[in-house]
Amino acid sequence: CGIVGILGRGPVVGLLLEALKRLEYRGYDSAGIATLENGRLARRRAGGKLKNLEMRLAEEPLAGTIGIGHTRWATHGRPTENNAHPHASAKLAVVHNGIIENFRELRDELRAKGHEFATETDSEVIAHLVTDAMQGGKAPIEAVAASLPRLKGAFAFAMIFEGEEDLLIGASRGAPLAVGFGEDDRAGEMFLGSDALALAPFTDTIAYLETGDFVVLTHRSASFFDAAGAPVERRKIKTAASA
Ligand code: GLU
Repeated sequence: CGIVGILGRGPVVGLLLEALKRLEYRGYDSAGIATLENGRLARRRAGGKLKNLEMRLAEEPLAGTIGIGHTRWATHGRPTENNAHPHASAKLAVVHNGIIENFRELRDELRAKGHEFATETDSEVIAHLVTDAMQGGKAPIEAVAASLPRLKGAFAFAMIFEGEEDLLIGASRGAPLAVGFGEDDRAGEMFLGSDALALAPFTDTIAYLETGDFVVLTHRSASFFDAAGAPVERRKIKTAASA
């Protein structure tokens, strides 16, 4: 339902929570955050309100300067902590909005290849599909590019990778996703959000993905690609929204 991703310079969990709170108006049943702690993927999830996630984080804090967050409105799989996003493999973590219509078929295929599914969601196939491509020798960006054409449905997602402190990938097909550019005292920071409102505390300079696009973010760059994998330019705009 709500997606946020941040390549920050300082601790990122507080910023992710702040952005997720701005997406609460959309409604949700559970929430979660994943970061890289010294390069290693770590996550906390909770059923119910963001307050519950904040309590989980108070008990077991998450460090890290890069992370993704999600508020979920369940479509496939009950609204439990275990079905909450981010979904993770040994290589990556992903937050997803929308529906992967062919998830059963992909799940069967990936199970047959030895991937073990931990949730009842459609979203988890994204994690295993990209992981499978990486196990086949592809680097993260190529693995996402190769996986996107196999996904059916309307969706957006954000993904971070084990050991990759300077990489955040977003994809959008029939569901909105915006890149936020850190400027002035946030120079060197980059943001992703399903809603410009979520990014308003950090930046008013954004660029929307067009449907079919994916974007590769580092702390200093945003590279957009269209559905055919060709590099494209997406125009920066100034939002009226401000924090
Ligand atoms: N279909 C996914 C799920 O049920 C994502 C739902 C959403 O957009 O929050 O987990």
